[in-house]
Amino acid sequence: VDDDDMQFIKMHEYVSELFHHILMHTNEGAEALNYLLERGFPSDLLKKEKVGLAPKMSSFTKNAILEKGFTEEAAYSAGLLSRNETNFSYYDRFVNRIMIPIKNHQNYIVGFTARSLDGAEPKYLNTPETKVFQKRHLMFNLSDARKSIRSQDEIILMEGHLDVLKVKSLKIENIVGLMGTALSEENINLLNRLASNVTLMFDGDGAGRQATMDIGETLLKYGLNTFVIQLPGGMDPDEYIEKNGGEAFRYLVKNEKRHYIHFLAENLLNESMNNDLAFSQNINILTDLLAFVSDEAIKSRLIMHISEAYDIDKSQIESKLPVRTSQKR
Ligand code: ATP
Ligand code: MN
Ligand code: MN
Ligand code: MN
Repeated sequence: VDDDDMQFIKMHEYVSELFHHILMHTNEGAEALNYLLERGFPSDLLKKEKVGLAPKMSSFTKNAILEKGFTEEAAYSAGLLSRNETNFSYYDRFVNRIMIPIKNHQNYIVGFTARSLDGAEPKYLNTPETKVFQKRHLMFNLSDARKSIRSQDEIILMEGHLDVLKVKSLKIENIVGLMGTALSEENINLLNRLASNVTLMFDGDGAGRQATMDIGETLLKYGLNTFVIQLPGGMDPDEYIEKNGGEAFRYLVKNEKRHYIHFLAENLLNESMNNDLAFSQNINILTDLLAFVSDEAIKSRLIMHISEAYDIDKSQIESKLPVRTSQKR
């Protein structure tokens, strides 16, 4: 953390306080606050997370930053202002949006994810890449979740920032959010150092299922024990909790955790039913992945699942497994 970094961080810590104050204590914030409360985000959570509102003004952040003695150029580099490339004037990047601060691993605020309130696109606008906000190095909520991740040896990974916050309000702590839809090599290294088990709990829609397939494969091949909690009816964690309540959610987390290969086997099953080529290819995909399962008990349970779901003999699967070097001696 050098002087520039510290200046970016100070700007973010400062405007976070302003946005938070506007949300919680002003007339301008009342509608947004009501929206969040109605969606089931309690005010103690909003306080703890310093959730805020960037007001409906094009120069609020700019003026606040200038008054505090920072330059427009610095605020632009920090991702708080945008620039008109014709006349080089600066204006607020975040207008009329709910501001969710994003902290780095030292627990400093380095950026925001900002949800529009009036249907403006994009629905979520993030801080652009800056010196202190490099998405490939960041994970949402990691600095708060770290302790609980270590003690439970499990990371629960979600897509949405609001999903993470809603689950935090249930006092489930080992939750981390993706920054976007990709998981970087740096992210994976980081996760791998913290825990040996990762559970993916993405949105229950098509996009979430595809992300689960892709990211799950990467994590498994990396050597992490990878599990999946699939949400029904296209819901995301936040929607599930609002619809079914916190206890039902806890039940899911405790009881509905499938190994990634189990999840994949079930998702590939449909296309295999009347397509013998797909059937054979999918069996090969699954058996190839079994080579990355180091826990022998889980592996044999997975073999059983696949053999039952695909109605083939266990020995058919076992014969396709790569021979382990230890058995060759
Ligand atoms: P909400 O619950 O606030 O209505 P959502 O659940 O519909 O949002 P999704 O479309 O499911 O949001 O997006 C999941 C997550 O992906 C978001 O919470 C956000 O963190 C991230 N995300 C979505 N769109 C973008 C974007 N354009 N830029 C950056 N991140 C995004
Ligand atoms: Mn989604
Ligand atoms: Mn949602
Ligand atoms: Mn969602």
